Amino acid sequence: MSEYKKIKNEKINIDAQGKTIEVGREKLMIAGPCAIESYDQLLATAKFVKSVGANILRGGAYKPRTHPNSFQGLGNEGLEILKAVKKEVGMPVITEILDVRDLKDVYDIADIIQIGSRNMQNFSLLSEVGKQDKPVLLKRGLASTINEWIGAAEYIMDESNEKVIMCERGIRTYNDYTRNTLDLAAVPIIHKETGLPVIVDPSHSTGIRYLIEPMSKAALACGADGLMIEVHPNPDMALSDGEQSLNFEEYSKLMKSIKF
Ligand code: PEP
Ligand code: MN
Repeated sequence: MSEYKKIKNEKINIDAQGKTIEVGREKLMIAGPCAIESYDQLLATAKFVKSVGANILRGGAYKPRTHPNSFQGLGNEGLEILKAVKKEVGMPVITEILDVRDLKDVYDIADIIQIGSRNMQNFSLLSEVGKQDKPVLLKRGLASTINEWIGAAEYIMDESNEKVIMCERGIRTYNDYTRNTLDLAAVPIIHKETGLPVIVDPSHSTGIRYLIEPMSKAALACGADGLMIEVHPNPDMALSDGEQSLNFEEYSKLMKSIKF
């Protein structure tokens, strides 16, 4: 094993409209739709998830879809909706950047900038988000080893930004029952090897709604610093990832059943 760059004192503080969320001390309970579909969809989701304890709103404006004819996200219009809902509901927000040319627009709105699984080894994008000062959520690559994932974090930290939050979102294995295989051992490993905070995304790692609650509990039990969960007002009508999204009632039940 190589000697990894270790974070010792970097505090990641997220401004939640006057109140500060200190990552590592307080759990990051990120919730929201896979994709921003409309103002009403995002507003309703934001109000609901906040009312049951989520502290960060998620919503993709640029979606990395396997096929080009699938819904690609609302793009800039999605960012405008995110900005309006953030202001209306008073919640910090996270959204994914796909293209370095969108960095300024994403930076202006996001409290955390998400690098998705497919871009984990997009080294020029990693360097650019490393040059700005917002926290970066670095999702594990689709089939990346822990060494490769830490290497990606080092690309960001080697610029001036050490505010990296790791996100275990499952990896591809020969198990094809679930969408990916959730590698929970990664949580204590990343803590030990890097000192970086790690959250878990049970939605993309399982792809199956009923597995989200047990995997959320397991993630918190092994020390995850938070969860990222997809929530939609009507998952059956979602334009992406409906089968792994919770409706409001299911999310509320989850939040009541976990200790964080
Ligand atoms: C997402 O969180 O919106 C997403 C696309 O996830 P991943 O990059 O983990 O596939
Ligand atoms: Mn999704």
